[in-house]
Amino acid sequence: MGGDEPSASAGRGTAVVTGASSGIGEATARALSAAGFEVVLGARRTDAIEQIADDLGPGARALFLDVTAPRSVEAFCREVGRCRLLVNNAGGALGLDPIAEADESKWLQMYDSNVLGTLRMTRALLPGLIASGDAIIVNVGSIAAFEPYPGGAGYNAAKAALRALSDVLRMELLGKPVRVSEIDPGMVETDFSLVRFGGDAERAAAVYRGVTALTATDIAECIAFIATRPSHVDIDQMVVRPRDQARAHLLHRSPPAP
Ligand code: NAP
Repeated sequence: MGGDEPSASAGRGTAVVTGASSGIGEATARALSAAGFEVVLGARRTDAIEQIADDLGPGARALFLDVTAPRSVEAFCREVGRCRLLVNNAGGALGLDPIAEADESKWLQMYDSNVLGTLRMTRALLPGLIASGDAIIVNVGSIAAFEPYPGGAGYNAAKAALRALSDVLRMELLGKPVRVSEIDPGMVETDFSLVRFGGDAERAAAVYRGVTALTATDIAECIAFIATRPSHVDIDQMVVRPRDQARAHLLHRSPPAP
């Protein structure tokens, strides 16, 4: 979507998207911009978010963000000021090792980005979100939270913790003008597996072989739907899977064409 295209509905306020340099975050920034939000894109790869922000036009800004670094979160949130929508999307998985061979540093990194990153961003922006008078927090979880699979324990545990955080936040903010939603995607074809397998493109490609996975845009459209409901409607939890995926580990794979 180019910056010259008219917005669907102008003046929805400011949206922050973490992990907006690729995949679901990038697509969400584009979808929210098209829906009339001013978007602040955060990620570590500033060249990528600057290019996306340029593409989206004057309503979009790119700011360096490492959700695992408290000082970076602090600087980012100070720069953002008040916002109406926070999409906690930054995160992902590292490795597919069985528990017997678990690498604690990968578990810590997954917990840090997926869970503590969400905590840091939410805590820092919450006063401004409440002050906006009509705010939404969307956490990007995963079906991995409630459908654990062999090799996934570190990621499963992190997303299960995020699920708990979303639930508790919803309870703690009852009576405040803030909606809390969690979207839990199944398989989405992004750089997720490339990152999980440390840049092994062949191994990452095998994950999606024969499966029609969701696209990042499929999830972004759901997030934009959540963010554009009337103020009294809270889409508490949304689970979205490809038709080819009945459970995290139960996939229909088409045979390769002869
Ligand atoms: P992706 O293309 O690898 O995107 C991950 C994004 O997170 C990147 O923009 C990355 O940006 C950002 N990120 C990672 N660590 C960060 C940090 N410390 N600080 C700031 N940003 C950070 O994968 P994706 O599929 O779009 O993943 C987005 C979210 O969806 C993740 O939370 C993932 O767990 C979740 N999810 C994915 C799937 C799937 O099948 N793809 C399914 C369910 C849930 P930088 O590297 O530039 O910082």
